[in-house]
Amino acid sequence: MRLVRSRRDLAQALTKLDGPQGIGLVPTMGFFHAGHVSLMERAVKDGASVLSVFVNPLQFGEGEDYERYPRDPDRDLRIAEEAGIDLVYMPPAADVFPPDFSTSVTVADLSALYCGHFRPGHFEGVTTVLARLFGLIKPQRAYFGQKDYQQSAIVRRMVTDLALAIDIEVLPTIREDSGLAMSSRNVYLTEAQRQAAPFFHQALSDTERDMLAGERDGAKLLAKLERRLKKIPGFKPQYWALADAKNLQPKATAVEGDVLLAAGHFGATRLIDNCVLGESAKSGPGAIKRP
Ligand code: AMP
Repeated sequence: MRLVRSRRDLAQALTKLDGPQGIGLVPTMGFFHAGHVSLMERAVKDGASVLSVFVNPLQFGEGEDYERYPRDPDRDLRIAEEAGIDLVYMPPAADVFPPDFSTSVTVADLSALYCGHFRPGHFEGVTTVLARLFGLIKPQRAYFGQKDYQQSAIVRRMVTDLALAIDIEVLPTIREDSGLAMSSRNVYLTEAQRQAAPFFHQALSDTERDMLAGERDGAKLLAKLERRLKKIPGFKPQYWALADAKNLQPKATAVEGDVLLAAGHFGATRLIDNCVLGESAKSGPGAIKRP
């Protein structure tokens, strides 16, 4: 595995890497868990693999956790090497965004919904850094996690709108045994919050079960989801929504394939999760205790 920290070294290393299948990029902010590893392993399986590790200042709002975002570059490099990654780009902020950088990329509409409503500028930060990374690395494939459902829908839109020749692969959410979606931010949780956090996923999958049992009325499903989220000890739900899987528009009537999206806080820690209706029935949900 080769490690580079500058655009110049990156460009040089890329010339040696490009193979017949092209390059697969896994963009991350580091502090790896099994969710990141699943993306890396898939990229490695598909061909030459590049991993970017960059805590992107543009996607953090004022008062958010940019400074205290967890970082452990040495551990990340060990994990990347074990996963078989070919090349790691781990730059300082000024290498990605030099002082004269003046472009931003916005996917209108989609970026204003749900998480975007509560984190203005967040998705613009994400799409801008991805456009930059796509330009620097020129991947044929890029890998994202379904855990950040809205993000992956926005990235697909950007790639289509800008006619970028990149296949966007969205891989399933990796969860702890408790059902809690793995997230770098889970380290912020106190012991008590950790005990309660699995009920977030449980609330979504219980609502999915209601839908599969025949309840198709979106308002009723969301009222049930709201009640469940508000019962979770120490949790402050921020939004809960039923959306079309592709364009993310709110739905009044649920069909299989629609997605439940939700976010909320345990103290200062913000968690997001989602559930594609009908998906857990296919993969078999784990048994999780109720609050
Ligand atoms: P991050 O480092 O949080 O920006 O995440 C980098 C990539 O890993 C994004 O595409 C995320 O969607 C993905 N990811 C984060 N958590 C998970 C998870 N639990 N399962 C699968 N993918 C994930």
